[in-house]
Amino acid sequence: QPQIVWLRRDLRIKDQPALHAAAQEGPVIPVYILDDERPGDRKIGGAHRWWLHHSLEDLSKSFGRRNAKIVLRRGDSVDILAKLAEETGAAAIHANHHYEPWHKQAEEDLHDALKDMDCELELHHGNYLFPPGTATTGSGDPYKIYTPFKKAVKDLLPPRDELPEPETLSQPSSLPESDDLDDWDLLPTKPDWAGGLREFWTVGEDAAHKRLDWWADEVSGYDDGRNLPSKDATSQMSPHLHWGEISPITIWHRLKDKRSDGWQTYEEEIIWRDYAQNVIYQFPDYPRESYRDYDERTLWRNPSRSDQIQSEMEAWQHGRTGYPIVDAGMRQLWKTGWMHNRVRMIAASFLIKHLLIDWRHGERWFWDTLVDGDYASNGTNWQWVSGTGVDSNMFSRIMAPLSQSEKFDAAGYIREYVPELADLDDEHIHDPDDEHRPDDYPDKLIGHKEARERALEAYRNSKD
Ligand code: FAD
Repeated sequence: QPQIVWLRRDLRIKDQPALHAAAQEGPVIPVYILDDERPGDRKIGGAHRWWLHHSLEDLSKSFGRRNAKIVLRRGDSVDILAKLAEETGAAAIHANHHYEPWHKQAEEDLHDALKDMDCELELHHGNYLFPPGTATTGSGDPYKIYTPFKKAVKDLLPPRDELPEPETLSQPSSLPESDDLDDWDLLPTKPDWAGGLREFWTVGEDAAHKRLDWWADEVSGYDDGRNLPSKDATSQMSPHLHWGEISPITIWHRLKDKRSDGWQTYEEEIIWRDYAQNVIYQFPDYPRESYRDYDERTLWRNPSRSDQIQSEMEAWQHGRTGYPIVDAGMRQLWKTGWMHNRVRMIAASFLIKHLLIDWRHGERWFWDTLVDGDYASNGTNWQWVSGTGVDSNMFSRIMAPLSQSEKFDAAGYIREYVPELADLDDEHIHDPDDEHRPDDYPDKLIGHKEARERALEAYRNSKD
C-alpha cells in the first residue's frame, strides 16, 4: 500500500527518517504543502520563500534521478493530507517531528483527522542530534540552561547511526496531481532583490554536502577564525540545517574523527541548535514573550511611540546607524540573507541596548530577512542577548560595537558591505571621526557612552 511522506523542513533524501521508513513499507508519495494559514503571523517571509523555491526545485531533481516525483500542493496541510490519504488509499503518512507550535498543532489535527480512516500518522525523529527532552536533569526535567544541557548531551553522544540512502524509490503507478512550483510565485520579480542571495548561496542537498566536504578540511581552524567576520571561517551550514537539506547527524558522523579543538567547539554549536529546540519544546511562545518578568513598558522605547524612534529602528534595519560594524552586518543580512554570528550579537545588542528597542522587533526583522531564520534559534538567541531569557540576566552586559569591531578585525568586512567607507584605512574605518567620515555616511544615532548610561538607567527603573 502507498506511503505518503509529508515533507516540511526536511528537504533531503539522505538520512531522512520519514522517507526511509516509508520506502521500507511500500511505494512512496512525497508531498510538500505550502501552508500559509497555519503558521499565522509566522508565515514565511521573502528570504525564506526564495530559499524554499530553490530547495524544492533541487529536491524534485533528486527525486527525478531516482525515478520519483514530489507532489506539490498549496493550502491547509491537514485537509490536503487527509484528502490525499483517502484518494490514494495510503496506509500511512510519515513525517519528521517539528517543534514549532503550528507544526505540532498540525500533527495533532492530522492525527484526529485520520482517526476514522485506515491510515496512520507515523512521526519520526530527524532534524536534531537527539529529540528535545532526551537530555534530562537528575529529576527527569528538560534542561533550561545551555551549559548543563551541553554537558548532558555530550554524555549521550554518539547520536544514532546515519540511515542508508534509498537508491531507487518505487511509486504508485498514478500519482495525485501536483501544482507547478513556478505558479507559487515564491521568487521576487519586481523588484528582484535576490541578486545578492543568488551570488552568495547554492541551495539544496548536494550543495550542503559540498559545503560539508569543504568544511571537513577547515573545521580545525574554527576556534581561531569563528569570531572574525572578515574571514570565511564558519561552516555557513545554517540555512541548509534549517531547511533540513542535511541532517546534523550526517555532519556529526562526518566530522567526529577530526579530533581538533576546532571540532570540539563546532560540536558545541551544533548542540546549541539542539538546545534552542529544547527551549521551545518547553516554552512554545519563547520567541514572542520575554521569559523574565520586569516592567517592559518602562524599559523599551516603543517605535510606535514616536517618528524619531521609528526612524532609528529603520536606520538599524537598513544599516545606517553610524556604527560601521553594525551597518556592515545589517547590510550583509539584507544583501545575502545571512549574517556572521559575532556581528549578529553586536547588531542585536545595539538595537536592544543602544536604541532600547524591544528585542521582539529585532527578532521579527531577522525572521523576515534571514534565509536561516529559525523560530527556535532566532528566539533563543535574541532573548539571550537581551537578557530577558532563561539564562542568567545579561541586560547590563552591553557590547561596545567600536571596540568589538577592532578586536575582531572587521575592517575587511566593513569594506565589503559598507562601500562608502571602503577607502578608509584600518585606523579610521571602525569609528570614522568627523574629519574622515564621508558625506554619504551617517553620524552615529547615539554616542556609545551616552547609550550605555541611558540603558543602565532604564534597566534600573524597570526593576523598581
Ligand atoms: P557555524 O559557526 O558554522 O555553526 C554551525 C551550526 O551550529 C550553525 O549552522 C547553526 O545551525 C548552529 N549554531 C551555531 N551557533 C548557534 C547559536 N548561537 N544558536 C543556535 N544554533 C547555532 N541561527 C540560526 O540557525 N537561525 C537563526 O534564526 C538565528 N538567529 C540568531 C539571532 C541572533 C541575535 C544571534 C546572536 C544568533 C542567531 N543564530 C541563528 C545563531 C548563529 O548566529 C547562526 O547559527 C550562525 O551564524 C550560522 O552560521 P554558520 O552556519 O556559519 O555557523
